[in-house]
Amino acid sequence: MGNPKAFLEIHRQEAGYRPIHDRIHDFGEVEQTLNTRERKLQASRCMDCGVPFCHWACPLGNKPPEWNEALYKGDWELAYQLLNATNPFPEFTGRICPALCEKACVLNLIEHEPTTNREDECAITEAAFREGYITVHHPQRNGKNVAVIGAGPAGLAAAHDLNLSGYQVTVFEKNEDAGGLLRYGIPNFKLNKAIIDRRIHLLEQEGITFCYGKEITVNDKSKIVNDFDAVVIATGTPTARNLNAPGRELKGVHFALDLLAQQNRVLAGIDIPKEERITAKGKDVLVIGGGDTGSDCIGTAHRQGCKSVTQIEIMPKPVEGPVDPNNPWPNYPRTLKTTSSHEEGCTRRWNINTLEFLGKDGQLTGVKVQEIDWQPNPEGGRPIMVEKGEPEIIKAELVLLAMGFLKPEHPEYPEHVFVCGDAANGASLVVRAMASGKQTAAKVHAFLSKKI
Ligand SMILES: Cc1cc2nc3c(=O)[nH]c(=O)nc-3n(C[C@H](O)[C@H](O)[C@H](O)COP(=O)(O)OP(=O)(O)OC[C@H]3O[C@@H](n4cnc5c(N)ncnc54)[C@H](O)[C@@H]3O)c2cc1C
Ligand code: SF4
Repeated sequence: MGNPKAFLEIHRQEAGYRPIHDRIHDFGEVEQTLNTRERKLQASRCMDCGVPFCHWACPLGNKPPEWNEALYKGDWELAYQLLNATNPFPEFTGRICPALCEKACVLNLIEHEPTTNREDECAITEAAFREGYITVHHPQRNGKNVAVIGAGPAGLAAAHDLNLSGYQVTVFEKNEDAGGLLRYGIPNFKLNKAIIDRRIHLLEQEGITFCYGKEITVNDKSKIVNDFDAVVIATGTPTARNLNAPGRELKGVHFALDLLAQQNRVLAGIDIPKEERITAKGKDVLVIGGGDTGSDCIGTAHRQGCKSVTQIEIMPKPVEGPVDPNNPWPNYPRTLKTTSSHEEGCTRRWNINTLEFLGKDGQLTGVKVQEIDWQPNPEGGRPIMVEKGEPEIIKAELVLLAMGFLKPEHPEYPEHVFVCGDAANGASLVVRAMASGKQTAAKVHAFLSKKI
């Protein structure tokens, strides 16, 4: 335990974001860092609870009390070792995890001032890279080979663990680079892509082979099924949920990921033909979908120079404040979330249904929407949607559909083929995808160990 009284004397301090007037003009990471003294003080607040709910809440089973204590005592190397024992890529979760552990922290129950685990995690990892505590492992090979299909966080976590267990791992990725949604979904202002490159370089040095531009289909005829001792499918959720309202074909209506992936490619220096470029510059933008992907569209639209941005959501506005009484601690609160992108300015509306995309000469000009209400269903089940008032038109030259992704269906595969991450569980979080990748690596190891 750090300092037994620290949580009584020291308040939670977040590093916060760069000022809006500064960050809005570039795609650099918005989050700042605390200095070393302040970071250690934050780590000292961790009480090493008898029943640490943070372990339970973190899908990776990370143990914040252990690494927070080492951090408080200034042993950054030990802190990294403890963190890395459960988390293969803490530089990702340290930046973009919604910190399920902090919501379950006992200090969150008392004063809504939980420990700053996510930021601590990021600081520990950056120090470890800086100080050279992260070294290249050269595992002894066991003669078996494994193919991983998809280089998102799930595939990378599976590849990492299998490689360390001695398997010769080849990762097949349909894109031109690794990272999955870390690289082609999450904007650079949340996660700088050099952070992914740094980790991929390490994985390559440790012996993992990456094959890019390879779209693999796994079925009875796939060569890969016969060529490898085991196959891990980590292909994510490739199909975005569509909105088949009239006018969907108009120019200016796009899936959120079309914009986000393209913007990340542009920032990576990839040339996109002018006629294919999607841009919010000078436009009124409407984001349909009130979740995190929608929020990332808002931040991107601002940086591209939009005129205005509105986000609509068909469901009711979540409860404001730290806790929803219907969803109490230690569960992750389904309360209103205001992201750095929301803070940059946007109109947010709830209980809004989309009726029609309107256009002129094939080009989107606005969207007809209807305010609605949700009423209890007398027969039980899903509440009933009831229209309120008259339809209205929201002016928009660019619409971004951010309504989630369809859960993929899989055929029955041979026993040496395993599925993990979002491909197995539906769209979720990076930390869950990584946890699933690790669990699958353990299953593959158990399966192949019988045959070694
Ligand atoms: C815009 C956006 C923002 C997000 N922000 C956050 C956030 O801030 N925090 C958070 O925790 N989560 C966030 N998420 C969710 C998170 O990114 C995903 O849950 C996570 O990336 C899933 O990991 P995965 O490895 O299962 O799949 P993916 O990341 O989707 O990776 C799948 C990989 O498989 C490849 N692939 C697919 N099919 C094939 C094939 N046939 N052959 C070869 N390769 C193939 C794809 O190209 C991709 O590289 C966000 C998601 C989106 C869309
Ligand atoms: S990965 Fe996320 S939930 Fe787990 S300890 Fe880190 S911030 Fe908390």
